[in-house]
Amino acid sequence: MADVQHFDIAVIGAGIAGSALASALGGNDLAIALVEAQSLALPPLPAERDLQHFDPRVSAITPRSRLLLEQLGAWDRIAAYRQCAYRHMTVWDAEGTGAIEFDCADVNAVALGHIVENRAIVSALLARVAASADITVFSGAPLQDCQRDQAGGGTRVLLADGTALEADLLVAADGAQSPVRDMLGFRTREWDYGHRAIVTTVQVERPHQDTCWQRFLTSGPLAFLPLPGDLDRHYCSIVWSLQDTLVDDLLALDDHAFCAALEQAIEGSLGKVLGCARRFAFPLRQRHAVDYVRDGVALVADAAHTIHPLAGQGINLGLQDVAVLAEEILAGHARGVNPGQLDLLRRYQRRRKGENLLVMAAMDGFKALFEQQSLPLRWLRNVGMRGVSQMGPLKQQLIRRAMGVG
Ligand SMILES: Cc1cc2nc3c(=O)[nH]c(=O)nc-3n(C[C@H](O)[C@H](O)[C@H](O)COP(=O)(O)OP(=O)(O)OC[C@H]3O[C@@H](n4cnc5c(N)ncnc54)[C@H](O)[C@@H]3O)c2cc1C
Repeated sequence: MADVQHFDIAVIGAGIAGSALASALGGNDLAIALVEAQSLALPPLPAERDLQHFDPRVSAITPRSRLLLEQLGAWDRIAAYRQCAYRHMTVWDAEGTGAIEFDCADVNAVALGHIVENRAIVSALLARVAASADITVFSGAPLQDCQRDQAGGGTRVLLADGTALEADLLVAADGAQSPVRDMLGFRTREWDYGHRAIVTTVQVERPHQDTCWQRFLTSGPLAFLPLPGDLDRHYCSIVWSLQDTLVDDLLALDDHAFCAALEQAIEGSLGKVLGCARRFAFPLRQRHAVDYVRDGVALVADAAHTIHPLAGQGINLGLQDVAVLAEEILAGHARGVNPGQLDLLRRYQRRRKGENLLVMAAMDGFKALFEQQSLPLRWLRNVGMRGVSQMGPLKQQLIRRAMGVG
């Protein structure tokens, strides 16, 4: 059997959450392993601004998440690459006349947030990881098995290439399908929205005006998120959530017909949809782990909770999990407490579960409300949207919440 390498902490998954956690813990005299199934010999980020070169996966990063990325030393690199600040949001209902407008000026901010390509975030965080001598990266071989040592020796991890690791704390940052969560028998509550999201990049005729455009159709919400372009080329990333049955039909259309369908669905708000990149579809499930922790193990971000992308909160919640878990581990470490100790991990769970559940419930309520077709509810929805738009304090509170600073 291969030698077992011992670490204080093993983080499984080097997506945004895992690489952020490793960066946050690096440089604190803890031995950290970061394990990623994919190869991390990442190709250089493409500089071209055209349809084929944007990452189809983007995130709306709130000011609170941006602050964390700044603290981790990753934001400068992201900003130097490319991102698009959004200063305005327009949300409207396909079934009526109601609309809500949010503007950063309403809360005296310079932006409501930033649209950033996911690979730009991961790449900036991995550059921080590479600069930390106490982080060992294992990439290109997925975790294949993990087991708690019943004698209290931590958790044993076996990778597909035969590498064996042991850690006092194992952190699952391995995404919505989390193999670690399943292998260790963490229970989840989950339900299928019966929706998938189509994501792609589009070129539009008119400037996006640094605005996130979101239209609620009865089949599901459609968002156009602004991307950096130039004077005569305007790009958006789209997230179109639809009932499963409709997704296949849209994926089967040729680009020209798909662009026409998109243009109609967004009511031509950005003029013609001139072209689109390759389309991807992601299944949407709501999922929440009953417990985020047990002795020597913690779940973070999508491994602990996944939510509907309609308000772009998924990784923003995940990054807050990371910030709190890192804070508890480092505070414990300063007192000589083992990072896998259950009391320490429970503090992380107590501090994060409430907010995550609250946002999940709000997203569900929002989605359900906009799917209702009954006349009284449609009327209420429209009156409500107009009312919110005219009520200064309530609107400001909503904006601050969405920015993660309320
Ligand atoms: C269509 C769509 C749009 C979204 N838009 C937004 C948005 O605007 N704003 C926002 O905040 N959120 C958004 N989200 C949610 C956001 O994308 C997720 O919350 C985020 O990507 C989760 O990050 P993560 O690091 O937890 O997981 P992931 O990004 O899934 O990373 C998990 C990592 O673990 C690795 N891994 C998996 N299994 C193993 C294994 N066995 N061994 C080793 N490594 C493994 C994977 O290769 C991967 O690198 C959106 C989601 C969808 C589906």
